Amino acid sequence: MCCGKYLWCLVFLAVSYVKCRTIYLEHDSPTREEIAFLKKYGYMDDQLDVDYSGDATYTADSISEALRKMQAFAGLPQTGSLDSQTRKLFKRKRCGVKDIDNKSSRNKRYVIYEGWPKRNITWNVINGASTLPKSRVEKQMEASLAIWAPHGGLSFTRVDRSSQADIKVSFGREEHGDGFPFDGLGHVVAHAFPPPSGSLHFDDDELWGDDPDKEELANNDITDFFAVAVHEVGHALGMCHSDVEESVMYPYYKTPVEKLHWDDIMGMRELYMKDVEPMPEVIEAHTAPPFAPKFTLADREAERDSVMDEEESENEIPDLCFTNYQTIQVIQGKIWVFEEEWVWVLHDRKEIEVGYPKRFHEIFRGLPAHVNSIRTIYEKRNGNIAIFSGRRYWEFDDRFRFVRRGRLSDYGMPSRVHELSTVFMSNYNNKTYLIQYERFWRYDEDLGKMDKGYPKDMSAWRQLPYPVDAAMVWRGDTYFFRGPRFWRFDNLLVAAHEYYPLPTAQVWFPCEHTPDMDRYIENEEP
Ligand code: ZN
Ligand code: ZN
Repeated sequence: MCCGKYLWCLVFLAVSYVKCRTIYLEHDSPTREEIAFLKKYGYMDDQLDVDYSGDATYTADSISEALRKMQAFAGLPQTGSLDSQTRKLFKRKRCGVKDIDNKSSRNKRYVIYEGWPKRNITWNVINGASTLPKSRVEKQMEASLAIWAPHGGLSFTRVDRSSQADIKVSFGREEHGDGFPFDGLGHVVAHAFPPPSGSLHFDDDELWGDDPDKEELANNDITDFFAVAVHEVGHALGMCHSDVEESVMYPYYKTPVEKLHWDDIMGMRELYMKDVEPMPEVIEAHTAPPFAPKFTLADREAERDSVMDEEESENEIPDLCFTNYQTIQVIQGKIWVFEEEWVWVLHDRKEIEVGYPKRFHEIFRGLPAHVNSIRTIYEKRNGNIAIFSGRRYWEFDDRFRFVRRGRLSDYGMPSRVHELSTVFMSNYNNKTYLIQYERFWRYDEDLGKMDKGYPKDMSAWRQLPYPVDAAMVWRGDTYFFRGPRFWRFDNLLVAAHEYYPLPTAQVWFPCEHTPDMDRYIENEEP
C-alpha cells in the first residue's frame, strides 16, 4: 500500500539525467521521458548503473524490470515491454508523488509513515485556480476533507491565515517554489506533501472544474478538482499511493470519486486508529460515520441527480467473470471464491455448486457483522477454517461452527503487522505461509510457532507478482492469484511456470473466452 516516508526523496536528479545517454537498442526502446517517468515514480533506481564517467546506462533487463513493477502497480499485465497499454499510462493524468520508495530496496522493511500527532487539523486555501474561484475551491476542499475525517477520528477547521494552517492549498504553474515543477496541461495535475508539511499544490495549467454534471467533464481536458483533492488530502494526512485500482490513493486520475475504498480506510486505521480498539466502528463508518462529518459524499452526490443507483448497485451480486476476487481458497477439497459479501463454491473448475453464490455470513455464523469482506482464509492442518481481518482472526470447525477468535500475535506475528494479505498452507512442507504485501512468514502448526529466519522477501518466489491476492493448493499444485490473473508455482524450481499468468475467470470459472484471451493462452494450460 505504501511508498516512502517523505516526498522529499522525490528529487528526480534532473541534473544527472540531462547529461545521461541511454543505451538500449531494442526497437521499442523507451524515450527519455519514459525513463524519466520510471525514475521519478520510483520504478527505477536514480543511481542505477552509473558508470565511471557519470553517465547512466540502462540495460534491457533493468528497463524491463522497471516496466514490470510499473505495470504491476497500475494493474496491467506484467509484460515488461512497452506495449500500447503501458505507453498510454505514461501519458495519463496522475499525481506527481512517487509510487514506490526504492530507498530501502536493499533492505525492505515495513515503512511506517506518520500522520498528524493531533486530531483537530486546520486548513486554508491560499489562492484559487485560473478556472475555479477560491470560494469554489474552498467548498470542494471542505467536502474532500470530510470524506477522510471519520476514518481517522479527525476534525478539520478552516483558518484565515495560511501561516496558521496545517493543510495549505495553492495553485501554481511550472516551477512554483518547491523544486518540483509542474509540466503544463496534462500528465501531472497535482502533488502534496505529508505531515508535517501538509501542502497541497495543484497545477494551474490544468483546466479545473467542479461540476461533474457539466458536459465539459466528458471532455478530457477538464480535470475534476474534487476527485484530485480527495486524493491529495490523503497524502496531506500521511497516506501513500496504493496499487489498488479502486482506491482513492491509486496514483492515476479517475472520476468520479465516490467513496473511500477499503484499502484507503485500512491506511487511515494504520495512521490514526491503531491504538483504538475495537476497530469495528471504523469499518462500519463506511456506511454510518460515527463522527458525523458536516459533509459527506452523499451531499455532493445529491448535488448531482444520480443518487438513485447507489443502493441498488450495492445489492447486486458481482459477476464472477468481470470482477476482482477478494480471495480464492481451497477448503474441504472445493474452490471457494470470495468477493464483497458473497462466496461461490466450486466442486471443480468451472463447476459452481447449486445454491451459490451465498452471503458468507450465512455460512460463517459468528463472524462479526463488521467483517464485510474476506481478505484471506485457509484450512488449518486440523481441519479448522481461519478467517483473517485486520489484526484478528476467527476460527470455525469443519462443520462451520464458530470455535474461537484470536489475534495475529497468536501466530507470533510482530505487533506492527496490521493485516495479512494472504495465508495458505503448502502441501510441499505442510507449513503455513502468512503473507503481508511483499513479505512472508512461515508458521509450523505442529510445533505451534513461527519458523526462524522470517519474514522473507516475496521476491524469493521468482516470476510471481507481489503482493498477491490469494494463494492455494489445488490437486497438488500451488496457485497464486492477483487481480484478474493467476500463476502456477513450481515448488522445486521456486518459480512460477513460464507460460503464466493466465486469466482467472476463463480458466477457473464458467466464463466465455474473450477476444483478448489469445494473448494469454498461447499454450494450453497443462
Ligand atoms: Zn498521489
Ligand atoms: Zn509543489
